[in-house]
Amino acid sequence: MIIVNTIDEFIKERSKLNGSVGFVPTMGALHKGHLSLIQHSTSENEHTIVSIFVNPAQFLKGEDLNSYPRKEAADIEICRVAKVDILFMPTSDVMYDSDELAILAPAISGYILDGASRPGHFGGMLQVVMKLLNLSKATNAYFGKKDAQQLSLISSMVKHYFINVNIVPCEIVRDKDGLALSSRNIYLSNEEREKALSIPNSLKLATQLIIGGETNCAIIKQKITEVMSGNITIDYVEIVDRKFCMIDKIVPKDTIILIAARIGTTRLIDNMWV
Ligand code: AMP
Repeated sequence: MIIVNTIDEFIKERSKLNGSVGFVPTMGALHKGHLSLIQHSTSENEHTIVSIFVNPAQFLKGEDLNSYPRKEAADIEICRVAKVDILFMPTSDVMYDSDELAILAPAISGYILDGASRPGHFGGMLQVVMKLLNLSKATNAYFGKKDAQQLSLISSMVKHYFINVNIVPCEIVRDKDGLALSSRNIYLSNEEREKALSIPNSLKLATQLIIGGETNCAIIKQKITEVMSGNITIDYVEIVDRKFCMIDKIVPKDTIILIAARIGTTRLIDNMWV
């Protein structure tokens, strides 16, 4: 595995790769969720590129940019063992100019849900993903369904800007207790983690209701809210179709149930694709 930090090095090393290339962009502090994306890539492509970059442009003022977990040595080892070909670890100066052209998230789908709670977040995320896709010239790029709205917006960007890459959605990886893996889970105390379990538990309950024939989204949202309230501060509970339009009735194979909530100072998101 080659580790590169600059654009010139990246381009030079990328040009040596022949055949299909899979790309997995991350912000590091790698866990089994990231690893599943990397494994998808190594199994489906001749070469795999991983990037680790805590992107300042997608953090709002007052968010956890400075405290975001950084585990460089462990991340390098995980990528090496996973047989990654190129690990790209740039600094902000390498990625951004002082006078940058910006990308705006779509006016509707980019400013609901997380786009409403974190205005500007998706623009910053799309900007870095655009740069990384242009650099990696990947055949396939792998993204987790955990960040469902992010995945949807990246797919839109690739379509709208005619970027030649196949976006591959990957399943959510959870801990044994059901909590979706996230680099931010390490912020949680034991007590907070217990409370956070009400997120996957409420999604489980929603699944049971739907299996039992419930299709009314208002009722499902109400039940989810009941399971979570008292434990955590709900940011939103929403049910959308795969185009991220709000819906009133569950449509099998075209529905996503989304939750964002705060436990203490930690904000977690989770979802279920129905
Ligand atoms: P991040 O490092 O948080 O920016 O995430 C990098 C990629 O890993 C994104 O495509 C995420 O959706 C994906 N990811 C993060 N957590 C999980 C998880 N628990 N399961 C599957 N994919 C995940």
